[in-house]
Amino acid sequence: MSAPVPSARRVNVRTPEVMERVQAQVEQHYRSSLVESFRSRGGTFTVGNTTIRLAKDFGFCYGVERAIDLAYAARKVFADRQVFLLGEIIHNPEVNRQLTEMGVVSIPVEKHEEEIAKLTPEDVVIVPAFGAETRLMKLISERGCMVVDTTCGDVMSVWKRVRGYAKQGFTSIIHGKAAHEETRATSSRAMGDDGLGNYLVVLTLKDVDYVCDYIRNGGDKAEFLTRFPEGSHSDGFDPDLHLKRVGVANQTTMLKSETEEIQRRVQKAIEDRDGGSAAHFQVFDTICGATQERQDALFGMLENPMDVLLVVGGYNSSNTTHLVEIGEQKLPTFFIQNASCLTSLEQIIHFDLHSKVETQSYSTKLAGDGPVVVGITAGASCPNNLIEDTIRRVFALRGVPEAEVLAAAGADF
Ligand code: SF4
Repeated sequence: MSAPVPSARRVNVRTPEVMERVQAQVEQHYRSSLVESFRSRGGTFTVGNTTIRLAKDFGFCYGVERAIDLAYAARKVFADRQVFLLGEIIHNPEVNRQLTEMGVVSIPVEKHEEEIAKLTPEDVVIVPAFGAETRLMKLISERGCMVVDTTCGDVMSVWKRVRGYAKQGFTSIIHGKAAHEETRATSSRAMGDDGLGNYLVVLTLKDVDYVCDYIRNGGDKAEFLTRFPEGSHSDGFDPDLHLKRVGVANQTTMLKSETEEIQRRVQKAIEDRDGGSAAHFQVFDTICGATQERQDALFGMLENPMDVLLVVGGYNSSNTTHLVEIGEQKLPTFFIQNASCLTSLEQIIHFDLHSKVETQSYSTKLAGDGPVVVGITAGASCPNNLIEDTIRRVFALRGVPEAEVLAAAGADF
């Protein structure tokens, strides 16, 4: 008789006693009384001739808070075991650094299969907030590991939607980055419960226009498959067969306006092909509430004049990247990882979205002696302590004494 195949054991680590200890540690690592105080005073504050304006919504979202709580809880509950993490818990280097210091071992994406194959039933695996591909979940299950799954509920609702498309024989067109953990996880669910479903990942409006042209007029299949290489579509994807009935979904953290435009263009292409009928088209807006709130808050902030915008967050954070794109349309915008990027008023190290490299430049207004208004926002994966460091750094570089900054934050601070 063959040995039984072990299966993953999902564990609930959120007991009240554990969570009390977790909260204390999370607050110690990421909380900022200074940021809370400025926020409670409306988010705009001036000291000397330097004004800082905070977006109405920025920083940790509910999904990220939950993922961090669960990861910290897992470390506490399984203090005597090896605790592994699939890649990064969220896209912020500071948070991932803290977990590494606590002894959580991150398995790099390119080594997932190789490293999972070495795990034992004694090991604990944390699944990040983006979720993980069904293939990996199966491998973990076969190793019999304990699983602490921090996948955000908003991501899981996208999975439900694409599974539904597959069940009805619709191909999922997913607006996202094909290599992003969340989109990979979603793509795997778009294959459906029987694995026979199909998906295509599109990122840009150019991608979509190409697909729409194919939907309307057909085209060169080989060229299509070169344009959308392996990983951005299901195995065996055939544009002549698999664009007949499509459902659109998106990575939760995309730019809302762009996602809506993509939905409109695909629907129009299907209607043009099918004589005005949208029967072979479905759509479900899967931008998450937190992403939308942060984008809306930035649009609101941009209605008032500012001289420079600092967007704080991990360079690989999708929702943060879109905040930078929004800011760049209006004013000099610097995408910084943390306050240390503000080397001096004449040298800001920042990530250039267009060349995809870290570079340096500066804002003449920020570096000048005159009054300056600095906007600050951050993506859903950025902790408040990094915002506080940034506020303090801006004031310090502008020559404002720390005592004056603390006084502006309020006597009870
Ligand atoms: S950004 Fe949205 S989908 Fe991602 S963890 Fe936060 S709430 Fe969930």
